Amino acid sequence: MQKEFTFRFYSILNDFLNNDQKQQRFKETFKTPVTVRECIMAFRIPVFEIGKIFINENPASLKTELNENDRCSIYPHLRTIPSNNIAHDYNFILDAHLGKLARYLRMLGFDTLYHNNFQDEEIRKIAEEEQRIVLTRDKIIKSTPDPSYYYIRATEKHQQLKEVVKFWGLSSQIKPFTRCMTCNSKLIKIQKKEVLHKIDDDIADHFNEFYICKKCDKVFWKGSHFKRMEKQILDLISNNEN
Ligand SMILES: [Zn+2]
Repeated sequence: MQKEFTFRFYSILNDFLNNDQKQQRFKETFKTPVTVRECIMAFRIPVFEIGKIFINENPASLKTELNENDRCSIYPHLRTIPSNNIAHDYNFILDAHLGKLARYLRMLGFDTLYHNNFQDEEIRKIAEEEQRIVLTRDKIIKSTPDPSYYYIRATEKHQQLKEVVKFWGLSSQIKPFTRCMTCNSKLIKIQKKEVLHKIDDDIADHFNEFYICKKCDKVFWKGSHFKRMEKQILDLISNNEN
């Protein structure tokens, strides 16, 4: 039997809603019996981002079955507001859809695990063992609420990086060229003369600062790619209050 309910989603959960549902109470009809979890999934909101649930002002859970005309208020996890004065020490693990974002996070010095054939179960296990934040484009990677999981809203890689830096308040901890973009190991600074045999002549002519990954032997320098990224990050930091 179809019954009508009222919903109000708060804060970042609005990102998943249609425009006529955002930041306001709205009515929706579901076939009953229906649980709060089933409604949330029907709105295509990842369950791992759900914090507190209230029905008619009373605390409820994902398993609660709705009764006709119930009013549901659904909140994301409570987070401390990112502050540039507080040093967080966030480490990340990314799902298989986010390879480019993984490289960019490493470029800025963040410890970021990624493999293009990571399985969901492997990601969940490593995240728990190593206390890593899971950044994902998979809404069903975890079916229970968990504040260490975050669904990346943006689809474009630069926007994704901005989103992560802003959401997790990382702008004061950016340490470019401390981590290998390919394998996530720490980089060390190296004299140009020691890497001449690994780089093209025009690179050697134009750059003087070089870094090497002792694990995979890759050489890095602050080329045009890095300069673009650096500008975008500076733009982001200066717009951080918006
Ligand atoms: Zn490496």
